[in-house]
Amino acid sequence: MTPAVFFGHGSPLNAVRDNACTRAWQAFGRALAPPRAVLCISAHWYLRSTRVTAMTAPRTIHDFSGFPPELYRIEYPAPGAPDLAARVQELLVPVAVTVDEAWGLDHGCWSVLRHVFPRADIPVVQLSIDATQPPAFHYALGRRLAPLRHSGILLAGSGGLVHHLGRFRSGDHVPAQDWARRAEQRLAELLTSAARDELVNVAGLGEDILEGIPTPDHYLPLLYILGASEGNGQVLCRGIEGGSISLLSARFDG
Ligand code: ZN
Repeated sequence: MTPAVFFGHGSPLNAVRDNACTRAWQAFGRALAPPRAVLCISAHWYLRSTRVTAMTAPRTIHDFSGFPPELYRIEYPAPGAPDLAARVQELLVPVAVTVDEAWGLDHGCWSVLRHVFPRADIPVVQLSIDATQPPAFHYALGRRLAPLRHSGILLAGSGGLVHHLGRFRSGDHVPAQDWARRAEQRLAELLTSAARDELVNVAGLGEDILEGIPTPDHYLPLLYILGASEGNGQVLCRGIEGGSISLLSARFDG
């Protein structure tokens, strides 16, 4: 069975950085039997409905501003997989999933996938996050997507479990803020102890963790991955950027 994985993508600059997490993402991809395709749930496709990309050649979307020109020149030319999009629609019935021909791959997906699958030869489909729905809805959708893992589809959530842009400080050696360090530590414990109920009950996660979830968009991709898996996760890497953004990433093999 293909694992399910959550990536804390951090800054778009991680697309071109070499650090403990980019190396862990690369090692994860190298050790994996090549999947048939990736279904990517990115924090950056956060809508008022559930959509699935169905184009054969998704464009690379540079959905950020104020970064160096080299980042805007990156292309991640992975093919799409219209057959997978159709399968996702079937699996998620009765939720109405709209086929999308306009989006593509946003940086939540490609900034990480270019490390995991540097040849961009694995097809990628994106699934949007319906912002109008509660956490349990996203977890339930993950449950319905679980069968894809038996047919060689890698389910990848990309977001950030501690993600407070308002408290972010730029610079090379910004220390982690205390609450962020405590939140990341506690989240790593929950991920590795199969504490699904606690992780899905977002409102009950406690003060430190909630500080790092000022909006749900970067947390919710995790719920798809938890829904699609069982048992405990395994931390791939962790680390806090700019004092308030965690790269905590974990795989689930069960
Ligand atoms: Zn992001």
